[in-house]
Amino acid sequence: MDQKISVGVLGATGMVGQNYVRLLDQNPWFDVTYVAASPRSAGKPYREAVADRWRMAVDIPRKVGDLVVEDASQASRAEGECAVVFSAVAMEKDAVRTLEMEYASRGFAVISNNSAHRQTEDVPILIPEINHDHCDIIPAQRRHYGWTGGLILVKPNCSIQSYMIPIHALMERGYRVKRMIVTTLQGLSGAGYPGPSGLDVIDNIIPFISGEEEKSENEPRKVFGKISGGRIVPDETITIAAHCTRVPVTDGHSACVSVEFDTEKPSLSEIKRLWQSYRSLPQQLGLPSAPERPIILREEMNRPQPSKDRDSGNGMAVVVGRLRECKVFDCRFVGLSHNTVRGAAGGAILMAELLKSKGYLGS
Ligand code: NAP
Repeated sequence: MDQKISVGVLGATGMVGQNYVRLLDQNPWFDVTYVAASPRSAGKPYREAVADRWRMAVDIPRKVGDLVVEDASQASRAEGECAVVFSAVAMEKDAVRTLEMEYASRGFAVISNNSAHRQTEDVPILIPEINHDHCDIIPAQRRHYGWTGGLILVKPNCSIQSYMIPIHALMERGYRVKRMIVTTLQGLSGAGYPGPSGLDVIDNIIPFISGEEEKSENEPRKVFGKISGGRIVPDETITIAAHCTRVPVTDGHSACVSVEFDTEKPSLSEIKRLWQSYRSLPQQLGLPSAPERPIILREEMNRPQPSKDRDSGNGMAVVVGRLRECKVFDCRFVGLSHNTVRGAAGGAILMAELLKSKGYLGS
């Protein structure tokens, strides 16, 4: 790569936005040249706009700290400053939809963490290891909206990241999953900053996260879907029942998963073998953010644990453990992924790297 691609972060002052700023500082392909947030932050140097809200364990990169934060609603301000925007604004869905369309119509590649476009039929929900072929819908998307260089891709909800890749490793080998029951235990950073009050979460578990169960039940079907007639047709053969809970963990979403297979049922040792050997296109292409091993199997009976395992593979690997027979379905396991890295900024940066390698971000 001769020259880095200039990128912008919308919602750069938030929890996910800060992770973009931190991760992109180390990225060999991309360079942050544009940061935007709400009118509250606009006009201030990034360092000043974030101030005490900076939650990363490293200092604010000097160059980004000096950038003046723009008002994200003024898309024209990004023109000439960057080619890609990572969208991590926390706003009403309709407003996000309009905002992201505005950037795409101006020729930006928009990669979103927001759920606003997840049910838009020609916008892929991408997990690069699983459905990298859904990028093939981009030409049809551009024709449909009359965009030249613009496009929109979205990341799935962070809660499904901790089990989708392990499930894909089995599905791609012919072990079709028919039904799953999933109970998530989701970290506090998933609620943004400052998130729930300490008094609500210390010594407590909150058994409800608004909208999360519906997303957990629907989004996997689209991820496993197929492109047909200029839209992504969801895989309706999988049924998922999800319970989503908020737990007093800073970062890391865990999921306890019970799986029922269709006719072909793998043995536990076969599942372990498939997980350990699993590699996909991001690994074959050597994308900079791709973890060498997308699935890390822990054999200890008390792993994975968020505080010990969430940073595996630089926060990009899914850690699985406790694989055993299930007395109701066929097997069960615990999965874990870092919600603000693989589940948000890191996963989206991997999507941008995939787009670049497929030729969708210019030369
Ligand atoms: P957050 O910490 O609350 O940050 C929200 C960001 O949105 C801030 O930069 C804020 O700017 C900006 N914003 C708010 N209102 C705005 C407006 N009217 N115009 C422009 N910008 C505005 O939230 P977050 O956790 O980073 O989440 C951001 C998005 O990512 C959400 O859609 C969330 O659902 C999604 N997501 C989050 C996670 C996670 O683990 N946290 C994972 C996956 C996806 P100011 O600082 O100026 O207010």
